[in-house]
This record gives sequence, C-alpha cells and structure tokens, in this order.
Amino acid sequence: MSDVHPSLLQRKIIHVDMDAFYASVEIRDNPSLAGKPVVIGGSPQSRAVVCTASYEARKYGIRSAMACSRAYRLCPQAIFLPPNFEAYSKVSQQIREIFSRHTNLIEPLSLDEAYLDVTNNAQGIYATQIAKAIRQSVKDELNLSCSVGVGPNKLVAKIASDMRKPGGITVVPPERVSEFMRHLEVRKIFGVGPATEKRLHEIGIQKCSDIWTFSPTQLENELGSFAHWILQASQGLDDRELETNWERKSMGREETFSADISDLETIQKSLKLLSKDVADSLKDEELEGRTVVLKIKYADFQQVTRSRSLAHHTRSESQIFNCAQQLLLEKTEAGKRKIRLAGVSVSNLRSQ
Ligand SMILES: [Mg+2]
Repeated sequence: MSDVHPSLLQRKIIHVDMDAFYASVEIRDNPSLAGKPVVIGGSPQSRAVVCTASYEARKYGIRSAMACSRAYRLCPQAIFLPPNFEAYSKVSQQIREIFSRHTNLIEPLSLDEAYLDVTNNAQGIYATQIAKAIRQSVKDELNLSCSVGVGPNKLVAKIASDMRKPGGITVVPPERVSEFMRHLEVRKIFGVGPATEKRLHEIGIQKCSDIWTFSPTQLENELGSFAHWILQASQGLDDRELETNWERKSMGREETFSADISDLETIQKSLKLLSKDVADSLKDEELEGRTVVLKIKYADFQQVTRSRSLAHHTRSESQIFNCAQQLLLEKTEAGKRKIRLAGVSVSNLRSQ
C-alpha cells in the first residue's frame, strides 16, 4: 500500500442516497401505484417541473428537472402527483434516526441524502457492515430503498453511492481509489458544472486520469484557482470535513404560473398563499426569521431577488405577506412586465 496517499487511510465516510425518494414514499403509501410510472412534480397542464420520477417512469426517458408537460408527452399514462414535502420530511427524520444509531457525525445534504463519518464508530466493525445495516434497517423499518457509497472521503463516497442504483452498496477502499477515479468523467467531480466541463473538454480533458498528466502550473493557467481542487479531486483526494452543525438557512416556497401574468392582483394572491405556506413551515420547524426575500422570474427568464429585513424576527403570515407585497410593488416591474414565477422566502432564521 506504499503508493496510497496517506490522507486516504485516515477516515471512513459513508454516503447514503435514497432511491427515487419522493416517488418511493408515494408508492409505499399508496400500493395501487406500485409498478406504475409515477412522476412527482405537478400537473402536466401546468408549467411545473419533475422533482422525482419512479424507475418505471424513467424507462420512458423522464428525468428530474424536466417540464411535466414534456414528461407527459413521453409517457401519457404516467401518474402525476404534487409533492408532499411534509410527508417526505417526516420520513427523512426517521432515516436520520437510523443513521444516528451508528454515528453522531451526520451531514444531511437534502431530505434524501447524507454523509456519515464512521471513522471512530466502526468499533472494529467494517464501514461496509454499517452500510449494510443501514440499508437493511431502511428496508425493514421504512419499506424504502437506498444506495450507499463507502470511501475514504466525501468525494469518493458520493460518487460511489451513484454506481449501483437502486439498492446497491459500492465500497472503495483506499488502495482502490486511484483505479476508481481513473475512468470517471470529469463532470462527476463535485464543483464541475457544464461551463467548467466544456473548458476541460477544450483542453483535451475527458476523464479524471487526463488531468493527472497536467502540472499544477499548466492547470492553473487554464482554470485559475479551481485548478488546485480539481487536481486533488481527480486523484480521489478530498479533505473536506463533514458539516455536522448544519442549520436551515432559509425557508421558501415558489410558484410557476400556468401562463405568464402581468395582472398584479393575481400575483398578489399567489404571494399570499406562498406566505402562508412559508409561515406554516416555519411554525412546523419552530423557527422564525427576520429577512423576507421576494424572487421574481420575468417571462424572458430574467430573475431578480429583492429583500428587506424586519425590525423583529417573525413567522407571521401577514407580516411576511405585507413585506413581500411591498417589495413586489416598489422594487420590481410586476404589472409592467409579464412574470412566470414568484417566490417568497424568509432568511436570517433562529429557533423560537
Ligand atoms: Mg436520491
């Protein structure tokens, strides 16, 4: 193991990713949906986008973030359901309770994904066994399926959990990291978005091992400060710690209108409903916030956010709405330009 980088021998990280989470919860709770293509998002007549598609729906080419109308054209017999976030966050809490049996070092990434640091909790048990125990408990107790990646850091564990979906466990021990990374496409590296990917392709980099042939200086000339991370990451090296003191930073809701609208009254009605949803969610999580943020996307997709801080923390529906409404009337071109989306959120949160 002399050629294994020492940092790879120090930690054991698990990444758990629920399989088609929102769709799986709906199917579990309504067995008549089993085996059918299920799409969580909104009505195909609306301009909602797909949050999650069941594996049956994916066979028709339906993917997350696709317009529901397009999903409908791909599979007219699919069952379209609105997301029920209250139900999903309840299940998410139950999943987290299962994680907490194995470690206190948990970093949730979203309702359906988390990192676990089990370096000191394996207690002579292999991290792989913890991964298997978690997958089994999730199946036995919650009747849901998850995929798990085990690796020496967050980067490798997350890529690994995606390798054998659904229901798979992929373990990458330190001595196999190099081989694991070698053939991976560069876009699998955390932080490489479409623009960076394009830039990398232009200089002849497709796979992670293509990066290995570049010197740090060469790569810095091409990519600037991002070069350091990508050089490390392409070798499967990543010293990011888990962010275990994760706290919600904002609470928000948004609505994409069924048609672009310029009628101020309709927009204000929507803001009222969104404010109510935000206030209810703050109440559920026993939070209150001080800054109200209004997001408006115009028909040409230009997006603006306008915010205002209140004198005191609040979770009052009317205070949130009044503030959002003022921002709308004073700080946007609503009424003059058509709008396709409105969003209300509250930040600067504290628990009450
Ligand atoms: Mg998932």
